[in-house]
Amino acid sequence: MKLDALTLFFSMFINVTLVFCALVVGVRWKTGSGIRFWVVALLLQAVGWAALMAAYQGYPREFATLGTAAMVCGFSFVHLAAKAYLQQPFSRAWVVGIPLVTTLLHWLLFSNFAARIAIVNAALSLQMLWLSWLLMRPGAVGGWRWRWMAGLALAASGVMVAGRFILVLAAPESYPRFESAHWINIVGLIISNACLMVGTLAFLLAHRDEAERELQRLATTDGLTGVLNRRCWMEQGLSHFQLAQRHGRSLVAVMLDIDFFKRINDTHGHQTGDRALVLFAHALQQLLRQPDLVGRYGGEEFCVLLPMSDATAAQTVDQRLRAAIQRDVNPSLGFELTFCAGVASVREGDTSLDQVIARADQALYAAKQGGRNRLQIA
Ligand code: GH3
Ligand code: MG
Ligand code: MG
Repeated sequence: MKLDALTLFFSMFINVTLVFCALVVGVRWKTGSGIRFWVVALLLQAVGWAALMAAYQGYPREFATLGTAAMVCGFSFVHLAAKAYLQQPFSRAWVVGIPLVTTLLHWLLFSNFAARIAIVNAALSLQMLWLSWLLMRPGAVGGWRWRWMAGLALAASGVMVAGRFILVLAAPESYPRFESAHWINIVGLIISNACLMVGTLAFLLAHRDEAERELQRLATTDGLTGVLNRRCWMEQGLSHFQLAQRHGRSLVAVMLDIDFFKRINDTHGHQTGDRALVLFAHALQQLLRQPDLVGRYGGEEFCVLLPMSDATAAQTVDQRLRAAIQRDVNPSLGFELTFCAGVASVREGDTSLDQVIARADQALYAAKQGGRNRLQIA
């Protein structure tokens, strides 16, 4: 089979342009930032391939520099896309510095064939190899599937371009011309084509992963306060309850209810009521430890589960919460926020978490009856 470099070059341009158009139509722009950067990268690549083709058809040298600039800028946008999904801040030196320096040097050193080709290949391979490391390194945020797909595609491209860099430095006279069917050109263009497809798939997967995570977050947390919602708290609480029963460990549930909350709404407005809920939940979250579980049970009621703890631990949490509210919440609200707590420990005969919650609820009711702003143990 004889492969022709110009045909592969042209098909690369067609593929990038078509994938760009398909993504512009198919991607919802409001969700996710990473995929948008990838789409811009494709546009720049398409411009780059077109300008390079024009330059080699005899168009003025500006086309070659434009093509180079578009290609290198394109990889800056791949950098932005990857960083968005890796949830890391991007680096200005990589995103702005490399395209600027490369374009400038390409322009200034245009008459020196080996130097200008070496600079472009050095910049591109640096961008690709650094990104592939960022994507595939252990401990990076995000699913490994898309990271490794994108990382391997970039590594393959990076190694190929690095090879061209070494070749042009070591033997500039044998560096293949753009249109020649030299195996380096053919292999390079096949890798570029493949990486376009694999890279696009990888970033679409990253986009889907991100959407899934967001849905998961929306389904499990309370929209106002950010703590677990009741359903998720009950689910996770059930596993703690079963573990505690199986291994004979202690477990304590605390129901918390803000006092006279209706009056707060009536006096200060619902927005202030909402802010009080947020500050209360935040103060509560701040003082709990890793396995502790906090959720919004409903309205102005919160529920806490303290694994491997007893009523004494619940009393400590209660005291710390009162202190935190005195110190941080009340000055911010401008009025006194108090609450009642009902505490119940898991007992030997308990068959469900609901029984424990019911006892904590009764204790809470007793605390209200007893005059509010207090804790009651079941
Ligand atoms: P008690 O001391 O007996 O607990 O009295 P309370 O007023 O706190 O309790 P009650 O159950 O009478 O009122 C709770 C109020 O909480 C009524 C409801 O409008 C309000 N509420 C529930 N959810 C929200 C919310 O998300 N935001 C705001 N601002 N208010 C809420
Ligand atoms: Mg209340
Ligand atoms: Mg209530």
